[in-house]
Parts: sequence; structure tokens; C-alpha cells
Amino acid sequence: MQRICVFAGSNPGNRPEYREAARALAKELVACGLGVVYGGGSVGLMGVLADTVLECGGEIIGVLPRGLFRQEVAHTYLTALHEVGSMHERKALMSDLSDGFIALPGGFGTFDELFEITTWAQIGLHHKPIGLLNVAHYFDPLLALVEHASVEGFIASSHSRLLLVQENVSELVAGMISYTSPAYESKWVELPPER
Ligand code: AMP
Repeated sequence: MQRICVFAGSNPGNRPEYREAARALAKELVACGLGVVYGGGSVGLMGVLADTVLECGGEIIGVLPRGLFRQEVAHTYLTALHEVGSMHERKALMSDLSDGFIALPGGFGTFDELFEITTWAQIGLHHKPIGLLNVAHYFDPLLALVEHASVEGFIASSHSRLLLVQENVSELVAGMISYTSPAYESKWVELPPER
């Protein structure tokens, strides 16, 4: 495992715990020799994460859609900044560059990235670990929704276990490093080439 992609709010949130968690996660990833891929912005928890990785001398790679988020210009000192043509390309590149994914607290953008990457795992497009840092129980309502969907028959219990949930940063990162993908039946069917 070389790099982890972190999804995180473009806002800092209302509790100091959220910023502290972004800092702690950045420090832990650098301490474990892992590079960080993220959305490229300098605002909110994303900015806290990037600043801390840079302070600690770690690798941080931003992936930004060209022309978007101009007002929150990306960090000038990132290890690398990839500019891509669309939000879709961005997610694909963030995924290609990373060996695992962690979500910090955030809003719609973070939920979208988390659920898309989990959907890709569910259909077997990748077998990389997906972690949720459940800071101050921020993700409890989301986890309750996932449990509800599972009880109601919309999410297989094997798929709901794709999310590694931890409140503790070092346990989450250790869990990501030692992760082996569960064996489950993929819904993804390779079609024969068209004639
Ligand atoms: P949100 O949780 O709605 O604040 O969105 C945060 C996620 O969406 C991040 O993980 C980014 O990949 C992306 N994103 C949203 N706003 C920005 C921004 N201003 N700069 C860069 N990426 C952003």
C-alpha cells in the first residue's frame, strides 16, 4: 500500500474535533509512509489535511477539475496537482492513484465520493479498503441508514461490511494496511466482445 485517497469536507465543520481528526489522520498517514491523494482544495478539512501532510514532509497529490473551485485555489506547494476535464474524470483518477480510501466528515461531495467508491467495490471494480473515520460519531446517522437499507433488503450484509468504521485514527490506518478484500459474489458480469 502506497497511497490513500482522503475524502473530506470543503467546510471545517462546527466542532474542533473535526479539524483535530484531519490533522491526526494526516500525521498518521505520513508516519506510516503513506502518500495522500485528495480533492486539491485549500479550504475546510481538505485544507487542514493538506497543510498537515505538507508540514510533516509527506506526499500529497491533488486532483482538481479544470476551471472549478477557482476561488479556493489549490495548494501551491502540493507534491503534484493533476487537473482533469470533469468531476467524473477526477473521481476515476483519484481512484487509480490510490490503494485505499478514507472519508473524514464532510457534506454532499464527501458522501458522493464515498458512496461511488463503495459502489465500485460492490460490483467488483476494485478491491481496495474503504474507511470511515467516525469522528464524534458524525457518521452514525449514515451508518444507521446503511443498516436500514441492509435490513430492508437493498444492501447485502456482505456489502455493508465493505466499510471499515473506526473512531481511532491509528486503528483505522492499521485496519486499512492489513485489509484483505472479503470474498463475495460480484454482480459485475463481463460481457463477451461484440461481433
Ligand atoms: P463537501 O463534502 O460537499 O464539502 O465536498 C468535499 C469533497 O468534494 C472533497 O473530497 C472534494 O473532492 C470535493 N470538493 C468539494 N468542494 C471542493 C473545493 N472547493 N475544492 C476542491 N474539492 C472540492
